[in-house]
Amino acid sequence: MNPNRRLFLAVVAAAAAAMLLPESRAAGAKIKVAATVSMVTDLVKQVGGDRIEVAGLMGAGVDPHLYKATAADVVKLQQADVIFYNGLVLEGKMQDVFAKLARTKKFVYPLSESIPVEKLLEPPEFEGHYDPHVWFDVTLWAMCADTVVKGLGEFSPKDKPYFERRGEEVRSKLAALHEWALKKSAELPKEKRILVTSHDAYNYFGRAYGFQVVGLQGVSTVTEAGLKDMAKLVDFIKKHKVKAVFVESSVSPAAIKRISQDAKVKVGGELFSDAMGTPGQIENGYDLGTYEGMIKHNLTTIVEALK
Ligand SMILES: [Zn+2]
Repeated sequence: MNPNRRLFLAVVAAAAAAMLLPESRAAGAKIKVAATVSMVTDLVKQVGGDRIEVAGLMGAGVDPHLYKATAADVVKLQQADVIFYNGLVLEGKMQDVFAKLARTKKFVYPLSESIPVEKLLEPPEFEGHYDPHVWFDVTLWAMCADTVVKGLGEFSPKDKPYFERRGEEVRSKLAALHEWALKKSAELPKEKRILVTSHDAYNYFGRAYGFQVVGLQGVSTVTEAGLKDMAKLVDFIKKHKVKAVFVESSVSPAAIKRISQDAKVKVGGELFSDAMGTPGQIENGYDLGTYEGMIKHNLTTIVEALK
């Protein structure tokens, strides 16, 4: 074989190997990751550090129950080495996109897969589905860090120790945040811990931090509240002398505002439910565009308004 032809074949073989093996990406090149909701993006960034670059599909104020992937999202997903999403049908309109991706891509992970099934809630209004809003129990969210460590480590085994070390750090940070949340909620006596909001995003929050949670709209935001539900909720608020109700950043506030007028209680503030705030928006020293900032903002808002 002439040397030129041999060189040509070697180049072709190397190019083919580069396409097949994630390991052979250029030295120092970052792993390309795509993530759906901002809480998932945040956790992936925490674990992945500077060895990854993350394209988050859904930003502040976006409702994942209703979100449809855009053409640009599909390109980001196709270009990603690893894909993370929440799962448990949170990203309800993206199910078939994930199913299609799973056929051609190997590294696609729902974060919630590392939570043991017995820890998941299955409230009746969720009609046979598990409640997807797992990030509001900080201990469950810490478990989800395991999926990130696993996914990134499977894609790039040589970086695995790095991701494992960072995963440990993330889990201990989240353990401290959980302790903070327990203390903060304990500022309210048990009978005052009643949280009335737009949709049923806070069941895990309620279980973890001792709140009775009443959502106006059921599991997802797809169905709008009927008048009957609103009247029932007004009665409930009066009966339990609830001092405030709360709107959510990713759900229309109209129904809750109406409730607050009818029940003659204040709107205690805006909570983050299915999306975090805008990155860089600082409140009381924490960034609302981070998971920690979101949890601290919500609890502080709730506790101060119900005191
Ligand atoms: Zn939701």
